[in-house]
Parts: sequence; C-alpha cells; structure tokens
Amino acid sequence: MQVEDTKKDFLIVGFGVVGLSLAKHLLDQNTSFDVIANLKPRASSVSGGLLNPVSLKRLKLAWNADLFHFYAVDFYSSFTQLLGQSYLQDKPIYRIFSSIEEQNLWFSQPESKPINKYLSSDLIDLAKVDNKFRSAKVIDSYLIRLRELISDFSNYLIGSSRFIQANFNYADLHLSDSCVKYNSRGYKHVIFADGYQVINNPFFNYLPIYGNKGEYLIVRCTDLSQDKIYKPSKFLIPLGQGLFKFGATYERDFTDDLPSASARLNLNKELEKFTTVDFEIVDQVSAIRPTSKDRLPISGQHPKHSSLFTLNAMGSRGIMSAPHLAKNLINSIKTNETIMDQVNVNRFTRKHFKSSPSLY
Ligand SMILES: Cc1cc2nc3c(=O)[nH]c(=O)nc-3n(C[C@H](O)[C@H](O)[C@H](O)COP(=O)(O)OP(=O)(O)OC[C@H]3O[C@@H](n4cnc5c(N)ncnc54)[C@H](O)[C@@H]3O)c2cc1C
Repeated sequence: MQVEDTKKDFLIVGFGVVGLSLAKHLLDQNTSFDVIANLKPRASSVSGGLLNPVSLKRLKLAWNADLFHFYAVDFYSSFTQLLGQSYLQDKPIYRIFSSIEEQNLWFSQPESKPINKYLSSDLIDLAKVDNKFRSAKVIDSYLIRLRELISDFSNYLIGSSRFIQANFNYADLHLSDSCVKYNSRGYKHVIFADGYQVINNPFFNYLPIYGNKGEYLIVRCTDLSQDKIYKPSKFLIPLGQGLFKFGATYERDFTDDLPSASARLNLNKELEKFTTVDFEIVDQVSAIRPTSKDRLPISGQHPKHSSLFTLNAMGSRGIMSAPHLAKNLINSIKTNETIMDQVNVNRFTRKHFKSSPSLY
C-alpha cells in the first residue's frame, strides 16, 4: 500500500468533547490534522452540557476549576466566529436547598475562599417547584449546546476534508520509526480521544479507566421557565421548546449503555416530588462516562510507541476540563510543554502497563 506523499501532523481518533477540543486547537495553530470518528451518541452528545465549576453536592470547587473554567468559557465562545452561531448559553444554575443546613453552608463560606466568587448571596424563591428552603444561584455557570457543536464542527471539518466519518480499525494502524500509517495516509502523531471505547483500544486498554453510566429523562413541561437550570438533587436542564433533561444518574455496575427501566422509574419519582406542574416523558438517553481509578483525567504518550497519545478519563467534568487539557497535550507534543503532573499517563505505567503484556 502506498502512503500519500503529504504526511499530516496529527490523526485524532474520536470526536466527543476531547476530540473536538484537540481539533479546534490544531485548527487555530494552523497545524495539519485529520479526525476519524463514528459520531455515535456517546458521553459528550448525551451529556447535560453544563459548564459548572462548583460541585454542588459537597459544595466544593471542582478540581482545577479556576484554571479550567474560564479557559473553557473563552474556548466555547470562540466557535461563534468560526461557525457563525453561539454554543455557550448564559443559563444560571439555581441550587435548590433541601434543608436549612444546606442553605447555611452556602451562605457561611468565608469571603476568602475561592469558591465564594461563584456563589450568589441572594436567597431566591422559585415558583412551581418544591422550594421550601429556597435557592441560590451559581455565578458564571453556563450551558453548552454540545450536541449541536459536535454536529456543526464535524460538518465544517468534513467541508475542509479533515474529517473521516467511520469506525477506526486498530488493525489498519501501522507503526514505523518515521511515521504512522492509517490506510493510505501518513501521520506524525495519533491522539486517541475515544472516551469509554478505550476498552477496545489495544494500545491504551491497559489504563485503569472505568465506566460510570448516566441516564436522563427528556420531559415536556411547558409550565416551567426555560431560562434557568434547576438543581434540586438532580439537574433539570432546559432544552428549548418546552423540553427539559432531568438527571443524571450515576451507575458503576451496568451491563450495557442503553436506557434502563429502573432509571426511568426513579427519575420519574424524583421529578414528581420536585415539581407541582404536569410533565410528560418523551424520551430517555444514556451513555458511559470514562473515569479513572484516581478520578483525574489521563493525558500523554504511550509508554512504548512514541507517536501514540491519549487524552481520556474526563469523568463528569469533560466540558470544563477538555479544552485546557487538549491545549496542554498538543503543546507538550509540539513544544515540549510539560504535561500537568496529576494527569500524566505515566502515573499508571509501572503498575498497569507492565502487568498487562499485550501485542501492543
Ligand atoms: C449522562 C451524562 C451527563 C453528563 N453531563 C455532563 C455535564 O453536564 N458537564 C460535563 O462537563 N460533563 C458531563 N458528562 C461527562 C462528559 O460527558 C464526559 O466527561 C465527556 O463527554 C467525555 O468526552 P470524551 O470525548 O472523552 O468521550 P466521548 O464523548 O465518549 O467521545 C468519544 C468519541 O470517540 C468515538 N470513538 C471511540 N472509539 C472509536 C473508534 N474505534 N472509531 C471511531 N470513533 C470512535 C465515539 O464514538 C465518540 O464519539 C456527562 C456524562 C454523561 C454520561
């Protein structure tokens, strides 16, 4: 098989929020690349789309939130210029307190604490929902229209001959000292951005990445406001035209990635308790979050094959973390920038790579 004369710099495998972030940085840097992805609805397109720096359950800042959050806001805003529309929506999250203790915890955060700048100081009454302990707003939280962004950006890349819509076949990847060949094309580097599908990736399936299944109900509810995100125990996220997403669930023991009857029942019960108005379930969606053993993302080079890289394990915060980590990984390959210690793939090499001998 002949390799095309022109070798591109990068091949990105996968086009969830990680693949998309890698592609946008490479595009901005005028670096040559192709993306190959099957565009099946996985974690990114099923996700709630929340860009939220605060973990509301424990009232803590998410890991590296200050750095990642504002970088991500600029990153998603930058698509407006490229694609002609905005994918970042200013829809604040309203934390609905379930007890007076929860309410006190919110309002007793010391001024000096970094989380404080994200917590509004007004106590708010919301209509048509169970709000007896009232609520307060997360400042600077956004909703990203990620499914539409994935679709529009992939169409843009298809239009500029940088996107191959197909399954990536690992057996067709040929590694040599000078380059990597995939079918008839040559590349200098391959970055796998394959999310939970990494379990089928013979190069990186040694990594301790576990799935966590999440499900949402899609409900029609014309009596609730579409301009805010409600957060009692779960999120109620406006989708437009009277529709909302309600969820998500977290399930570590699962047998498949399909919507389940038990999640439907439990979510339905919770939503009935939360709102006094009528709603109708119109759909249910589910996907698997890729999470690591230490719950931090994983980024970097394959221990044996220097042209192969991974960026994965975004857990439940991929929308916030992926843009910055994608930039860091690309810069590490192009300019030797250091990969952030806590996320470096090499933290798993000694224990996991050696103990899983494989052809690769
Ligand atoms: C229900 C749910 C709700 C969530 N809500 C939020 C939220 O509100 N905010 C937030 O920040 N995070 C949220 N998350 C987490 C977030 O979705 C993930 O962290 C993130 O989407 C992971 O992105 P990824 O690109 O690594 O993986 P994925 O989104 O899974 O993308 C991987 C892509 O690679 C493709 N692919 C894989 N293997 C191959 C192959 N061999 N050939 C071709 N294509 C391939 C897949 O088809 C897929 O398109 C949620 C997750 C779930 C499940």
